[in-house]
Amino acid sequence: MRIVLVGPPGAGKGTQAAYLAKNLAIPHISTGDLFRANISQGTDLGKKAKAFMDAGELVPDEVTIGMARDRMNQPDAIGGFLLDGFPRNVSQAEALDEALKEDGVTLDAVLDLEVPEEEVVKRIAGRRICRNDSSHVFHVSYSAPKQEGVCDVCGGELYQRDDDSEATVRKRLEVYHTQTEPIIDYYKAQDLVVTIPALGKVEEVTERAMAALQGGE
Ligand code: AMP
Repeated sequence: MRIVLVGPPGAGKGTQAAYLAKNLAIPHISTGDLFRANISQGTDLGKKAKAFMDAGELVPDEVTIGMARDRMNQPDAIGGFLLDGFPRNVSQAEALDEALKEDGVTLDAVLDLEVPEEEVVKRIAGRRICRNDSSHVFHVSYSAPKQEGVCDVCGGELYQRDDDSEATVRKRLEVYHTQTEPIIDYYKAQDLVVTIPALGKVEEVTERAMAALQGGE
C-alpha cells in the first residue's frame, strides 16, 4: 500500500505511523525524521534545513522533494510506503503525483488525523521523544515515563524537540492551516481521503486507522 498521513503537528502522526507501518509491513518515511538525522550528522542538507525547522517554517521544496524521492527510491519502499509529514503543500503533492506516475503506481489512501487545536498545543508542549527512536513518545503529564528523562521502551534519553516550544508550535499550526491543509482538498478531488478522529488511546486510534484503511480498499 502507498499511504500519506496528514494532520496538524501533535496529532500523533509519528506514533501512529510507526504502528501502521508495522501492521501493514511497509516502511515509515518521515521527512521530519530524515531532516533531524541530517542535522545530527551535520550534513549540508541538515544545515540548510535547521533554521527553517527552528522557526516552525517549511524547508524549501527544492531540498525536501529530492530528499523524499531518494528515500522512496530505496529498495524497501518499492512495494509501498507510509509517508509521514510529506507532502506538506500542494506543490509537493504535485511532485509526488509526478514521481508516482513515472513509476506507474498510485496512492491507495490519504489518512487525515483530526485533533482539536487546543489539544494540539497541550500535547506538544509536554511532548518528550526518545533519542534512539522517534516513535517512543512520552508526555510529561498524559503518559509520563517511569523515570523522568528516560525512555520506558529502550532506556534512551528523552528530549524536547527544539521546535516544540509554544511560540514555534503556534507558527507550525499557522503553516499547517495555510500550506498543508489545502492538500486535503487536493486529495479529496482524487477521492483518496479518509478522516478519523485522533483523540483517545493510541491503540484505539490505530484500530480506527486500520479499519478506515481496510474499508477504503
Ligand atoms: P515533523 O517532524 O513532521 O513535525 O517536521 C518537523 C519540521 O521539519 C517541520 O516543521 C518542517 O520545518 C520540516 N519538514 C518536515 N517535513 C517537511 C516537508 N515535507 N516540507 C517542508 N518542511 C518539512
